[in-house]
Amino acid sequence: MPAEILDGRALARRTRKDVRVRAKRFKRKHGRAPGLDVVLVGDDPASQVYVGAKERMAGKCHIEGRVHRLPVETPMDALLALIATLNADENVDGILVQLPLPSHLDEGVVVDAIDPRKDVDGLHPVNAGALVVGRSGLTPCTPTGCMRFLEDIEYDLSGKRALVVGRSILVGKPVALMLLAKNATVSIAHSRTKDLESRVRESDVIVAAVGRPELIQGAWLKEGAVVIDVGINRLEPKEGEAPGTLVGDVDFAEAQERAGYITPVPGGVGPMTIAILLENTVLAAERRNP
Ligand code: NAD
Repeated sequence: MPAEILDGRALARRTRKDVRVRAKRFKRKHGRAPGLDVVLVGDDPASQVYVGAKERMAGKCHIEGRVHRLPVETPMDALLALIATLNADENVDGILVQLPLPSHLDEGVVVDAIDPRKDVDGLHPVNAGALVVGRSGLTPCTPTGCMRFLEDIEYDLSGKRALVVGRSILVGKPVALMLLAKNATVSIAHSRTKDLESRVRESDVIVAAVGRPELIQGAWLKEGAVVIDVGINRLEPKEGEAPGTLVGDVDFAEAQERAGYITPVPGGVGPMTIAILLENTVLAAERRNP
């Protein structure tokens, strides 16, 4: 039987609906909307698109989105001064510095400067540490979005074998910890892993976060496996194909025949990332203003 497709757009819509309700309630109680401040340094075209989408979606969810656009040559002290101002501003609930930063700016130093209670990207070491020790911090948006798919289908991870392909701080490592917290037996595969195929074959759940088009073949999957595909890869157009087709890290057409559930690309994990960012903003606002 072909896999059930996990519709990220629909799940994101439901998530945003809940965010809207909470943001409205916050505004009634505190006389202002939750505030999300996004800092964009330079003019990277992809970052401009992402930031624009975040601002637009915030507005739709009764969140006050503000974008601080800084020139590409902005020195570190000016960026840190802006972050300090946002940290001190009571009307700012969430701070997000759009990555990647221009190469003269050290991303670690910048992320460390954000007040962990306002770190809606969940990348500050305090929040990363909270995830490791099982405390409730703010969790990174994309991994949190991945877990929502499993929660939505009420998938019981207890004792299941989960494989995370990719070990980035943004996706692979945090999602592995989240799966572990739900009692899965978790493996992490990465660029040095040998025999990825065998690791995939024995896994009940696969989270692919690599950035290699269709690296994971459908034939490798265990029958009925749950596949969460985080990868976003733009293909060179083949003959007859629209330019720049997006594909994931999993060969969707083949995988669909063997998997039990699968997220498509596009329309899977991607839409959930912004929805969780907005949810984190409301959560940060509620926690700072009980
Ligand atoms: P990254 O480049 O930081 O990490 C990639 C990881 O893949 C590394 O840990 C590396 O060890 C591993 N890897 C590389 N080659 C491998 C191989 N042959 N076998 C196994 N592992 C291998 O990337 P990232 O930031 O984690 O993003 C991964 C993908 O997810 C990218 O396509 C990115 O565009 C996408 N992404 C999507 C969203 C979303 O909202 N949907 C958010 C973040 C990232």
